[in-house]
Amino acid sequence: MIQVGINGYGTIGKRVADAVVQQPDMEVVGVAKTRPNFEAQSAIEKGFDLYAAREDRKHLFGEAGIDIAGDVEDLVEQSDIVVDACPSGIGEANAEMYAEYDTPALLQGGEDKDAVDASFNARSNYDTVEGEDLVRVVSCNTTGLSRLIAPLAEEYGIEKVRATLVRRGGDPAQSGRGPINDILPNPVSLPSHHGPDVNTIFPELSIDTLGLKVPATLMHMHSVNVTLESEPGADEVRELLDAQDRTFVIPDWLGLDGAGAIKELAQDAGRPRADIWENCIWGESVSMEGSDLYLFQAIHQESDVVPENVDAIRAVLGEADQAESIQRTNEAMGLADGLAPTRVAPEATADD
Ligand code: NAD
Repeated sequence: MIQVGINGYGTIGKRVADAVVQQPDMEVVGVAKTRPNFEAQSAIEKGFDLYAAREDRKHLFGEAGIDIAGDVEDLVEQSDIVVDACPSGIGEANAEMYAEYDTPALLQGGEDKDAVDASFNARSNYDTVEGEDLVRVVSCNTTGLSRLIAPLAEEYGIEKVRATLVRRGGDPAQSGRGPINDILPNPVSLPSHHGPDVNTIFPELSIDTLGLKVPATLMHMHSVNVTLESEPGADEVRELLDAQDRTFVIPDWLGLDGAGAIKELAQDAGRPRADIWENCIWGESVSMEGSDLYLFQAIHQESDVVPENVDAIRAVLGEADQAESIQRTNEAMGLADGLAPTRVAPEATADD
C-alpha cells in the first residue's frame, strides 16, 4: 500500500484525501493542518490523523481539545509521497522539508513551474515523471485544456490553439474574492499565464490565451478555437472527445444550458460535494469551419485536478502504467460511471 501524506487540507487537499482513501493501493497516513477549524474537525470525523503544520500554532489544537499525531515533519517522514495542497507559494517553501526527508512531493497548480522538476497531466505526459522528487499537478484550467489538446494533437495535429478563459471570481467559500459586479479582463495584457502554463505540458504547442474574471463561483468556462492540421468532420471530433476517459460531451437532450445546471446534475448524480471531475464539453458547440475547431467547455475548478493527483502518485512512484492508473482511479472514485446516463432521449410521440 502506498502511504500518502496530505499537507494542506483545504479545497484541494480534502478532496485528494478522500480520493486516496478510495484507492485499493493507497492509504492516507494523515493530514497536516495549521489550525483547528471546521476542516480539521471533518478530518477527525473521517478518521485521519492530524499533524501540526506550524510549530507556532500547535498549541491551538490542544486548546481546542484536539489530539494531534505529531508535527508535519513526522508526517513527511512516514509517507512514501506527500500531496502538498497548501496555498500558492507555500508548496515551494516546503520543498526543502521534502528533500530533507527524501520524500517525493506533488505540488499544485498555483506553484511556480520553475520550482519543480516536472509538471503533470495524466492524459498528456504520465510517463515523464517517474522518479522525480517534486512534481506539479497543473492548475484546473491547464488540466482542462491539456485533456482537450492531447487527443486532438495525436489524432489530427495542431497548428494553433486560441482559448478565452472566463474564470470564476473565486471558489464558493472564498468570500473575499471578486469581482462582485463586474467583468474583468484578467490579466488585461496578453497572453494570460494559462498559455505558457499549457506549454509546461506541451512545450512545442502554439497557444494564445486570454483571461477574464466574472462574478460567479460555480465553474470556469473556456471558449476554444483549435486550428487543426487536417479537416475532420464535427461528428468525428465529438466522438473522439467523448471517447476520452475524463471528458463528458454533453448531449443536447440533457438540456444543460450552463454551469448551474451541470452542478445540479452532479448533485442529482450523488457526486461528493457536487464535484465534476471531467471536462464538460457542449456537444452542440463542437463545430468545424475548414480546419478550425470551435467549442465551449466548463471546468470545475475545485475538482478536476483530484484524479490527476491520484494518478501522479502512481506515476511518480512507478506503481502503474498510464492506462492502468487512470482506469483504477476512475473506477475507485466513481468517475468511470459517468455523470449522466448514456441512453438517448426517448423519441417524442404525437401526444407530447
Ligand atoms: P485552500 O486555501 O482552500 O487550502 C489550503 C489549505 O492549506 C488551507 O486549509 C490552509 O489553512 C492550509 N495551509 C496554509 N498554510 C499551510 C502550511 N504552511 N502548511 C500546511 N497547510 C497550510 O487552497 P486550495 O484552493 O486548496 O489551493 C491549494 C493549491 O491548489 C494552490 O496551489 C492552488 O493554486 C491549487 N489549485 C486550487 C484550485 C481551486 O480551485 N481551489 C484548483 C486547482 C489548483
